[in-house]
Amino acid sequence: MPLLSSRVANLKPSLIQAVVAKSRELRAAGHDVIDLSIGEPDFDTPDHIKKAAIDAINAGHTGYTAIGGLPALRAAIADKFQRENSLAYDADMITIGAGGKQIIYNAFLATLEPGDEVLIPAPFWTSYPDIVTLAGGTPVITHCPKEDGFKLTAENLARSLTPKTKWVMLNSPSNPTGAAYSAAELEELAGVLRKHPDVWVLSDDIYEKFFFEGHEYATMAKVAPDLFERTVTMNGVSKAYAMTGWRLGYAGAPKSLAPAMRLCEGHSTTHPCVITQHAAIEALNGPQDCLDHMLEAYKTRKALVVESLNAIEGITCLEPAGAFYAYPDIGGLLGKKNPEGTVIENDTDFALYLLESAHVGIVQGAAFGLSPNFRLSFAASTQNLENALDRIAEAVAVLKP
Ligand code: PMP
Repeated sequence: MPLLSSRVANLKPSLIQAVVAKSRELRAAGHDVIDLSIGEPDFDTPDHIKKAAIDAINAGHTGYTAIGGLPALRAAIADKFQRENSLAYDADMITIGAGGKQIIYNAFLATLEPGDEVLIPAPFWTSYPDIVTLAGGTPVITHCPKEDGFKLTAENLARSLTPKTKWVMLNSPSNPTGAAYSAAELEELAGVLRKHPDVWVLSDDIYEKFFFEGHEYATMAKVAPDLFERTVTMNGVSKAYAMTGWRLGYAGAPKSLAPAMRLCEGHSTTHPCVITQHAAIEALNGPQDCLDHMLEAYKTRKALVVESLNAIEGITCLEPAGAFYAYPDIGGLLGKKNPEGTVIENDTDFALYLLESAHVGIVQGAAFGLSPNFRLSFAASTQNLENALDRIAEAVAVLKP
């Protein structure tokens, strides 16, 4: 009898790990590596949020909370959905977890039977397929090339749905591309979904707060109210309030599903850390001007990154609509040789070349299901970005045909 369950045996080690391991090795050897591979805000959690957590500790709020979370947190989340997104989720429809990641996991755990499929548009956030596998379902990938702006089109959706599709994942703005769906594009997808009444939508809106000029937030439950009863609107405080380590994600879900997600939460982690819950109440209810400062910084860096990458021959970069990632295409560099004579055959070769020769860490497109590309995170200082972009340009300039 094998020790490991098929569920775990089917998980694959992340492709990001090869680059991360090499990066660590170079750092340990004393090299100045600029790491743009990490999807994490480079800001500190705002002071008023930290203070709420410290106050909670000092006030002795250190015991278990209700399974579904503090009533004040569920109310703050419901208010946020109503106030900012015009979405009517009452407190019974709110579910929380240790990060948006656990929300997705709970939704799938609560609904997937063996053989059920989850349609994942690629490029995708690397965790989606593994969460589906862990929850007992089957991830099905559909490619969304740069010609489609890295987005799922109605035609692609219609072609990719099968009788076994239970969920469609949507992530806007996207990790890794920064692409975002307009209300009109979501409406087109809704048109297809209306013909498939058993398919649910998981809308991962974790980057909601970071939209650039000319783009604005749109989400399925609002755009297509008739799909509200089969849509989960997921969000969290990790990215918006620079709180990745605090671990708090949340969702609005219809009454047919929210209680089951809370059951999964209750029987696994019981609930997210109580101190974090107090901090999240302050994040959602407190002053929001901290967001302006972060958004301004991401806008400036985005302009720098897109312009500098497009100035490099062989690299083309679409303008991200939001989040803090660029996903340039390196088709023009494949087949070239590095100064040692080794051919760059794919984006993993390119990522390793950049790391070894230029000491810049990025993540190869293969990790996100669409090649030949790389993801560059601009959640880094302007100084580091400028240096890294110079180094990338120099490393590309010495490639030989
Ligand atoms: N969705 C996407 C697209 C992400 O990039 C991330 C974080 N990298 C998450 C969800 C999960 O975030 P967290 O669990 O920290 O809330």
